[in-house]
Amino acid sequence: RLDIVGLDMAYGDFKVLRGVSLQAEAGTITCVIGPSGSGKSTLLRCLNRLAEPVSGDIRLDGQSVLGMKPDLLRRRVGMVFQQFNLFPDHTAIGNVELALREVQGLSTAESRRIAEERLAEVGLATRMNHRPIDLSGGQQQRVAIARALALKPELMLFDEVTSALDPELVKGVLNLMARLGKSGMTMVVVTHEMNFARRVADQVVFMDEGRVVEAGSPDAIFDNPQSPRLQRFLSEML
Ligand code: ATP
Ligand code: MG
Repeated sequence: RLDIVGLDMAYGDFKVLRGVSLQAEAGTITCVIGPSGSGKSTLLRCLNRLAEPVSGDIRLDGQSVLGMKPDLLRRRVGMVFQQFNLFPDHTAIGNVELALREVQGLSTAESRRIAEERLAEVGLATRMNHRPIDLSGGQQQRVAIARALALKPELMLFDEVTSALDPELVKGVLNLMARLGKSGMTMVVVTHEMNFARRVADQVVFMDEGRVVEAGSPDAIFDNPQSPRLQRFLSEML
């Protein structure tokens, strides 16, 4: 279970997050939507401590992540980015193995076995020995997802993971994420894919100017938005 309480974050004098609070039950999918610059990526970055909040707290199953050792946090929270951030000199399986060896300290044999399993799960059984440059964008993104999943995080963060993909590749990655959601993983997904949010989210959070303006079920957010700001955002998006 994830609890974010009164999170404030600033770059210098510029306040990026202003009292952001949200809760997500274990095994649910929270989709975060909102205009460019509203603080969505910054929120995710605070969740895995790529950014340090000024005040507020983030708790995983009641335990604050702000004091957690970085290597423990990296095991508990996985993140996938828009730009896949794969190591170009390693093959698909090499990228996954590297994470297992470095973060989990597994042996070469054990990390290879797990990496093969995870890549097969995301449909890349026949592409394991390709380097990123020899994979499509959608395949690279699935390697990045497999790499994050291999560490068995209890919380997975996705930041616009389909934005850099050609339209025909988007669906495969979204379907994979929907499947992960059904497997009981807790996920926070920043996305511009409103249909995805409507279809798979347990909760949708609308952010604007560093604040959570509205949060609720997909039906409430998309069919019955309360704030004029969200109404305008949706009319521009849909
Ligand atoms: P997008 O939809 O375009 O990805 P976002 O909602 O993810 O937007 P953030 O990336 O969280 O927005 O940025 C929120 C604000 O913080 C923006 O105004 C951005 O310019 C600013 N910002 C982000 N990173 C930095 C940084 N390293 N230094 C200074 N300001 C930053
Ligand atoms: Mg962003």
